[in-house]
Amino acid sequence: MKVVKVHVVTPDGPVLEEDVEMVIAKAQSGELGILPGHIPMVAPLQIGVVRLKKGTDTELVAVSGGFLEVRPEKVTILAQAAEVASDIDVLRAKAAKERAEQRLRAQKSDVDFRRAEMSLQRAINRLNVTNKHF
Ligand code: ATP
Repeated sequence: MKVVKVHVVTPDGPVLEEDVEMVIAKAQSGELGILPGHIPMVAPLQIGVVRLKKGTDTELVAVSGGFLEVRPEKVTILAQAAEVASDIDVLRAKAAKERAEQRLRAQKSDVDFRRAEMSLQRAINRLNVTNKHF
């Protein structure tokens, strides 16, 4: 099976470096499935789950936006924050979700609203990766 190298990088350093058969990511324009040998491209990402396929395994990574750079032999995801499932602190994500929901209910200003919305998305995304919503 052909593989492509995937690197997930944040300002804190590399999060993951692996050979995978397919990368599925949520670009701003919609979901992208990247196979080995894909034509070069750059795409902005949404806050979302990146799926890394290897045989019957799928590894999930919570990515908080950023960019996807595709070259035929390498996919780089450059994000402000990214976590593999085992690194996610579920209680912290639940607390962040609660805080964001409270701020959204208070609706103080547009700026607060947008910020709380993004924070809520990041928290839900992390919980999606761990599969522990409640
Ligand atoms: P919080 O309010 O809990 O800090 P946040 O969404 O504001 O959440 P970010 O600014 O996206 O946090 O991330 C800051 C750093 O903390 C990043 O390195 C990110 O990977 C890490 N991080 C954030 N939430 C979690 C979590 N639930 N589990 C593990 N790491 C986390």
